[in-house]
Amino acid sequence: MTLVLFIAVLVLAFGRVMKASKSVQVAVLVILFGAVFAIQIGLPEQSELRQATGGSVQSWVILIVLLGVISLYTFVIKGLKSKAHTATAPQQDGPFSARELDRYARHIVLREIGGAGQQRLKSARVLVVGAGGLGSPLMLYLGAAGVGTIGVVDDDTVSLSNLQRQVLHSEERVGMAKVFSAQLALSKLNPFVTVLPYRRRLSGENARDLLEGVDLVLDGSDNFATRYLVNETCVALGLPLIAGAISQWEGQLSLYHPQEGGPCYACVFPTAPAEGLAPSCAEAGVMGALPGVVGSMMAVEAIKFITKAGEPLLGNMLIYDSLYGENRKMRTERRPDCPVCSVGGRRRKA
Ligand SMILES: [Zn+2]
Repeated sequence: MTLVLFIAVLVLAFGRVMKASKSVQVAVLVILFGAVFAIQIGLPEQSELRQATGGSVQSWVILIVLLGVISLYTFVIKGLKSKAHTATAPQQDGPFSARELDRYARHIVLREIGGAGQQRLKSARVLVVGAGGLGSPLMLYLGAAGVGTIGVVDDDTVSLSNLQRQVLHSEERVGMAKVFSAQLALSKLNPFVTVLPYRRRLSGENARDLLEGVDLVLDGSDNFATRYLVNETCVALGLPLIAGAISQWEGQLSLYHPQEGGPCYACVFPTAPAEGLAPSCAEAGVMGALPGVVGSMMAVEAIKFITKAGEPLLGNMLIYDSLYGENRKMRTERRPDCPVCSVGGRRRKA
C-alpha cells in the first residue's frame, strides 16, 4: 500500500515539476488506482502482487473516502474565503478597507494628500470626455489613484491605429466601444472604482444631463466643436474644467474655472481655427508618447484639484514641446467680453 501511495506522490511531484495540467495528473492517478483495484478484485488473496498493493479493497475504499472528505472541506473553505473577499471589494462610501489603505498607502503618507485627500478622491465624481489618447493615461491614473466615480463619454470604437498611443485599449478589444474597453481596463486595475460608460457623442441635447452632478470635467476630446460645447456647459453649471489638447509633437493643458477667477476655454480660444488650419491627429500625425505626457499631466491637475494640493493651473496654461524637450507656462486671462463666461455675454449657441 505504501508503495502505491509513494508512486502517487511521485506522479503529483513529477506533474508539478513538468507543469502538467491538473487533468493529466488526475488521469494518471485514475489509471494507477484503477490498476490497484483490478489487482485487489481480480487476483486471489494469497497473490503476492495483491499483498504488495494493500491486501484488501476495504482499506483502499476507506483511504479514498477520507481523501474525498478532506478535499471537499478545502473546496468549501476556499469558496467561503473568495465570497468574503468579493463582499469587501467595491464600496464607494464609508471608511477605507484594509486593502484600500494598502493600495493608497503612498498617497496617504504624502503630506499634501493624506487620509483626508484620499477620502476626497474616493468621494469624487468626474466626467472624462473622450476615451482616446489623452483619456487613456488620464483614466488609468485617476482609476489607480482611487477616484471613486469616473464617467466617460465617447461614441467611438477601438481601432488598430489607436493602439500606437491609446494605452487603455488593447489588440483583442479592437472593434469594441471605447467606453466599454475603458471600463474593462479600469475594473482590472482597481475594483474600488466605479466607471460609468456613456457610449454617445456629446451633443447640445445630452451635455447638460451628462455633466450635471459631477465635481470636475476633464476634456480630452479631439475637436473644437466638442471642446466649446464642454466649456459652455461647464460655465453654465459652474463646473471646473481641465482641458488638454495635442498635435504632432506639442500639447497643452489648463484648468478653466471662471467662478474661481480664471478664464474659461473660450476666453483663451475665442474662435476655432479655420477648417484645415488645425488638422486632426489622423491628418497631421501625433507622436505616441505625447498624449501619455499631457494626459498624465491632466491627471496630476485633477488629483491636485480634488485633494486641494498645491497650486492649480488656474489662469495658467502649460505647454509641452516634446520635439525640443521644453515646458512653458503661459498666463491666461479672462476676457471681459467673452461671449460664454462674461456676465452680460451672450451665450454661444451650442
Ligand atoms: Zn470666457
